[in-house]
Amino acid sequence: MTSAIYPGSFDPVTFGHIDIIKRASKLFDTLTVSVLENKAKSSLFSADERVKMLVEVCSDIPNVKVDSFSGLLVDYVEKNNFDVVIRGLRAITDFEYELQMAQTNRKLLLQADTVFLTTSLEYAYLSSTTVREVAAFGGDISLFVPKLVADRIYEKFRIKNGDQNGGKD
Ligand code: ADP
Repeated sequence: MTSAIYPGSFDPVTFGHIDIIKRASKLFDTLTVSVLENKAKSSLFSADERVKMLVEVCSDIPNVKVDSFSGLLVDYVEKNNFDVVIRGLRAITDFEYELQMAQTNRKLLLQADTVFLTTSLEYAYLSSTTVREVAAFGGDISLFVPKLVADRIYEKFRIKNGDQNGGKD
């Protein structure tokens, strides 16, 4: 049994991530998509909200589980005995960072081998950051994320924009 983990921020999950999830799920017996809860980084959605959206968008893929973690990826990999870490590569700009991360992780934990899947060309431009930016100005994000995700993004911005007190979001 080969188990893979696909870690990321997924803030929010996009069609680019979903494409990687579907393809990786065919290569390994189990795939755990895991949301990194990074308290130092401000995010649009809480880790719980990101997990919920991932559970919904992955519900039709039988060997995919969704989880979250905080702290070092290698600690999480070791604790859960994952065989492979999956990452997606869009452009050369991803490559430098991803190569450094993969090598660092392997130095820290030999077991933490990274497998890179290159983006499908139709999603090469797509990132969570641009989705958030377009949605913040009310732009159309239907080509970037599933409808249930788009609805929650717009709702989140409605709450944010209506929140005069700079509330917890
Ligand atoms: P990060 O973990 O750097 O915050 P994300 O959570 O957005 O990034 O993405 C998690 C992983 O998915 C990364 O390996 C990233 O390169 C990859 N990824 C993101 N968007 C795409 C896309 N459109 N096509 C392929 N891979 C992608």
